[in-house]
Amino acid sequence: MKLIIAANWKMHKTGSEAKEFCLELLQKEDDFRGVEVLICPPFTALTAAAGVLKDSSVKLGAQNFYPGEQGAFTGEISAAMLKEAGVEYVIIGHSERRHLMGEEDSLVARKIAAAYENGLKPILCIGEKESERDEGVTEKVLEKQLSKALEKLEPEQVKSLVIAYEPVWAIGTGKAASAEDAASAAGFIFSHLDRHFGHESAAGVRIQYGGSVKAENIGSFISLEHIHGALVGGASLEAGSFGDLIRAAGKAVAS
Ligand code: PEP
Repeated sequence: MKLIIAANWKMHKTGSEAKEFCLELLQKEDDFRGVEVLICPPFTALTAAAGVLKDSSVKLGAQNFYPGEQGAFTGEISAAMLKEAGVEYVIIGHSERRHLMGEEDSLVARKIAAAYENGLKPILCIGEKESERDEGVTEKVLEKQLSKALEKLEPEQVKSLVIAYEPVWAIGTGKAASAEDAASAAGFIFSHLDRHFGHESAAGVRIQYGGSVKAENIGSFISLEHIHGALVGGASLEAGSFGDLIRAAGKAVAS
């Protein structure tokens, strides 16, 4: 199964900064064989990034979208707008949207369904907060987020899904989860999918780990049975270190 490493830039980089980053990253493209790489810039930098990436293997993702075709949704962006800008993937339900912007499971479910309807590939983010981990309810939280988000999907759709397991306490803190914790969560996600959508669909899903991933620790996650990539925030902001991270991931699977 091909690894998928995605850069989530959050609210960083203008169009010209994105262009500069992509030009630098592509100088290392030969090192990315065997890894699907994608960049998720802010909306305003998508077109600039797309212009540089268009003839390359590096793909473009968006960080969010609204599940309506068009209309009175001030400040929102539709799937058609993203597709015209060259977007292939979309991050849905990131913890910052859930916990800072109040995005509920029901909206996440609508976005996942709308992404499929409109030909965008969703990256569904799930993960527990620190207090939930301390209470020992991590699996309960993952179970709820998964069953709500996927309730409108058919097994055939689930098969091509990317799910990012991102413990909230590990995002942007420099405190990555242990390989044991990541393995246990990814195993739980796999069995949930297996139980609800069947083995073939579960086996097609790529599960990423996200939360303070960098070149130095990516190998410990990538070598786990049910983890097939990473969603990377802070360490994706510089082309040099992001390129090193991708190379390290490729090496970890090859060895
Ligand atoms: C993220 O934004 O999804 C993320 C995992 O951030 P960081 O790598 O900075 O922890």
